[in-house]
Amino acid sequence: MDRPTPSPELLGFIVDRVSVGVFVVDRDMNVVLWNRFMETNSGRSAAEVVGHNLFESFPELPVTWLQRKITNVFVIKNFSFTSWEQRPYLFHFRHNRPVTGGIDAMYQNCTFLPMKDADDEVAYVCITLFDVTDTSITQRMLRSALKSLAEASNRDGLTGIHNRRYLEELVNKEFSRAQRYGSMMSLIMLDIDHFKRVNDVHGHLAGDEVLRNTAKRLRECLRDVDTFARYGGEEFAVVLPETPLEGALIVAERLCHAMGSNPITFGDLALPVTISLGVSQWVPGIPCYEELIRRADTALYQSKANGRNRVTIYRE
Ligand code: GH3
Ligand code: MG
Ligand code: MG
Repeated sequence: MDRPTPSPELLGFIVDRVSVGVFVVDRDMNVVLWNRFMETNSGRSAAEVVGHNLFESFPELPVTWLQRKITNVFVIKNFSFTSWEQRPYLFHFRHNRPVTGGIDAMYQNCTFLPMKDADDEVAYVCITLFDVTDTSITQRMLRSALKSLAEASNRDGLTGIHNRRYLEELVNKEFSRAQRYGSMMSLIMLDIDHFKRVNDVHGHLAGDEVLRNTAKRLRECLRDVDTFARYGGEEFAVVLPETPLEGALIVAERLCHAMGSNPITFGDLALPVTISLGVSQWVPGIPCYEELIRRADTALYQSKANGRNRVTIYRE
């Protein structure tokens, strides 16, 4: 039994009422169909557009690109598609979303469909436009949330500087680079002296404030290329890429002095805070990045043993 064929009137009605842009062009790029979605969004009626060259009616269209795209469908006789991710939109249509989406026009996915005649030649190309503005806004929000999450997972909650996870990742990366190219790198480990006393005498909140202030003051003494991280409770680390031991020693002395020279204020209190530091550098033969950390830590504990508020270089 033959399937009932919808009448041309019914098909015309559907094409006109779908919430998708539909228009058809012939080989000369003359428009032969322009549905209501296209009328509403372009502000141009079918009566104005049909029978006229598409590019004459819409000179703002990307002529070279679109002409090639349509011509290809006539020649190759195959369906083709463009996504908003390659080209956000074909027609500059307004969208009705809040401006907070950060998107200036209706984003569109487009299809290019060959319409063949009885001789299997492509007589027309039908172009459809799907409004994908919501998808693109959601996608942008998702990307930005993922970026913030990735960034937050590298940060220490109390001080806002990088955390140990990030630091170890970076030391590992710099270490591999040094192994491969023989480039220099140094590492400083540092620890606040008698920090327990701050907590015991002035309370945990004062302790937290000292940690925040110490991190801020030390960060200001460093270059942007140096990575500064909270390694543990009141222990911090600095990775200095392309820096030999002598350079790292100067930096470490500067950090030591920056803390010792001025107390940290907490309310009415002026709390003297000093730090002890240990410095190590990459040299050929170090087996792994953990060894670099261990060496800086060993030097740090020598600083503690020798009276604190000082810098020690690791020596074998
Ligand atoms: P030393 O000079 O030998 O380093 O002595 P110290 O008192 O600094 O060393 P110790 O390791 O005994 O004490 C570290 C203290 O740091 C103990 C711990 O309660 C405190 N601490 C660790 N993390 C935090 C934090 O996030 N906030 C506060 N307020 N205290 C912390
Ligand atoms: Mg300490
Ligand atoms: Mg400690």
